[in-house]
Amino acid sequence: MCVSKFRGGLGFRHLGLFNRALLAKQVWRLITSPTTLAARTLKARYFPRSSFFDAKIGYRPSYIWRSFLSVKDIVRKGCKWNIGDGRSVNVWNDFWVDDHTNLGPKPNNCDVNQVRDLLNLEGDDWNRELLYSLFPHNNASKIACCFVSKSRNDVLFWHKNPGGRFSCKSAYFLALEADEDMVRNAISEDSIEFWRAVWKARVPGKVKLFMWRAWNNYVPTIDNLQSRGLNHTSSCTHCGETTENLVHVMFKCSAAKEVWDRCSLGCFYDTQGAVNFHDFCRVILENFPAEWEVFMMILWGLWTRRNKHFHGQLNGREGKVEEVAKVILSDYQKENQRGIISSTNGVHNTHTTVWLRPNAQHIKINCDAAWQKESGKAGLGFVARDYNGEVLFSGTRLEWYASSPLEAEAKAVHWAMIHALNRGYSNVIFETDSLCLVKALHNKIVLLEIASLFSEILSRSMAFNDCKWSFVKREGNRVAHSIASLALSCSNEIMLDGSVPSCANVWVTKYVISSNIE
Ligand SMILES: [Zn+2]
Repeated sequence: MCVSKFRGGLGFRHLGLFNRALLAKQVWRLITSPTTLAARTLKARYFPRSSFFDAKIGYRPSYIWRSFLSVKDIVRKGCKWNIGDGRSVNVWNDFWVDDHTNLGPKPNNCDVNQVRDLLNLEGDDWNRELLYSLFPHNNASKIACCFVSKSRNDVLFWHKNPGGRFSCKSAYFLALEADEDMVRNAISEDSIEFWRAVWKARVPGKVKLFMWRAWNNYVPTIDNLQSRGLNHTSSCTHCGETTENLVHVMFKCSAAKEVWDRCSLGCFYDTQGAVNFHDFCRVILENFPAEWEVFMMILWGLWTRRNKHFHGQLNGREGKVEEVAKVILSDYQKENQRGIISSTNGVHNTHTTVWLRPNAQHIKINCDAAWQKESGKAGLGFVARDYNGEVLFSGTRLEWYASSPLEAEAKAVHWAMIHALNRGYSNVIFETDSLCLVKALHNKIVLLEIASLFSEILSRSMAFNDCKWSFVKREGNRVAHSIASLALSCSNEIMLDGSVPSCANVWVTKYVISSNIE
């Protein structure tokens, strides 16, 4: 009884969490589109002189306002500020540095409130002296590496999503983390891992939905029908076993075992102690994570076959469950892959894996960054080459801090631009292996996570006569990559005319040979 209550409760809870994620989306709109009628109305009534995050419940609050406040922490955890002029962001309360929790509390007698107070008089750079006097060295250095822009407002972005836009999926997981009951409950750890694995998987939606139903035991097996008072007397249509339940159909029935035996999962179905559906999912996630998607497909296939049997619809022509499942899976993944590639149309050199020389009028500058997750350090590197593949100049330096690989890549491009401008080149192609960055630059869609730096790159690009953005796969960007990696091991800035650091030489030669266009 306890078990069924738990299972029912989990399904209900799932909907509850999803509902909270949707509410968070409304709040996100309220904050990021403050000029809408709804936003202005709520602000006038509940937080006329503060931000949403400082708003109180107020006198006789409406139902919707109560609901909004109930997801305040979820939204707070999901978003982060990109600093522009620093006027909208509170140093101590808002989330704008990765080590946010280490910034506060505000010291006594400190008159720094907004980030603007940490900038110099002109507002175009940090007041470093002040930074190092206020914060531990590590944090001060991180802040000093943040890009500021006095001509831009600060921008709030959803930092759980690469493009900075709100994502329901990530809000769902934040809601899940915030659900203390779930975390306290030992069984719930499994369900968190399970949901992550299901959401992430590249399988058709109907299979995900089936997994959700199976996890919650919302499938009409014979014992479920009986427990709802439907007096079904038939037995397993495959083996005649009288107690047909989900575990039997999926793992214990001889017809299921035959299917599993043709896969590479061993006799996992006989794992000691694995009793319910959750247990078997855990066995696969722990021991055969690479097979997880196939595993889900086969479960769905077994259930589909069982239903056909049950309703007498089997026509004898259907193939083996695991083969059909694998074909559907690979078709689906191919289709999805195609979707990703076709959505990058309009970007120069989309499919290139080798370095291709530019035309005679342009020079091509390949940029790359090598980023260390733990320290946030980023090695930046670039190499400029002409029509003949001759190296014009190259550079490498260590950037003390970048908050993400994307920011590191953008810093590499920005640095390369400064050098290209200084040398007076007017027709340039900047090439990187960050598809996300190239797409955004090409379409001039600001990446909120790096908004200030991004705008700076765009505005500098205007200084060239012709400036193009180009994407190349990593294999084609090896020269820049090896130069960037070098910076992580030797922290000196190196600028070379007419050559690259020796570690990158091997790649230069290789790619001039392998580029065979025109
Ligand atoms: Zn059976």
